[in-house]
Amino acid sequence: MSTLQEKINDTIVDVIDFPKEGIVYKDITPLFLDATLSGEIVDEFVKQAKGKVDVVCGIESRGFLYGIQIAQKLNVPFVLIRKAGKLPPPTINESYDLEYGQATIEINPNYIKEGDRVLIHDDVLATGGTAEACAKLINKCGGKISQFSFIVDLTFLNGKDKLTPFTEEIISLTEY
Ligand code: AMP
Repeated sequence: MSTLQEKINDTIVDVIDFPKEGIVYKDITPLFLDATLSGEIVDEFVKQAKGKVDVVCGIESRGFLYGIQIAQKLNVPFVLIRKAGKLPPPTINESYDLEYGQATIEINPNYIKEGDRVLIHDDVLATGGTAEACAKLINKCGGKISQFSFIVDLTFLNGKDKLTPFTEEIISLTEY
């Protein structure tokens, strides 16, 4: 019998030179074609987060897909972290550097309570810049990061190094 990691590895598709030359894009969308596997993925994230989390925050947009399911199974609120200009006010934001230029993400600060233990969830951990900016945003709201979870960690980019100042709990179901 294959492990969950083997099943994920067999399902994710590598797309060479997308969205630009030199990038190997991990296409996770085939996971959603398999309802049984998707259920196992959510269950594994839930198992690792149980008892440690008051709020789940999903990063736009693929972090929403399993993120809300994790939150519902944990019976805790789900909060969207979105790219600038997508959420109605009130919002607070955090900007971070990309390879070329900058990006800004936003959250409704009223959705995070002082002292909330927050799980930040996304599909892929690459350089860690996005997840780090999300963690700073949560801290601005008064929340603390209890866990990060990702389907995939691209370990050669050392994204975890940016996240360990927030918590040692950095979960990934597979890595490359
Ligand atoms: P980063 O801020 O560098 O950790 O990038 C993380 C964000 O970019 C995540 O939301 C991912 O969805 C996306 N991403 C970065 N690199 C890849 C990749 N090689 N394959 C798929 N998604 C990626």
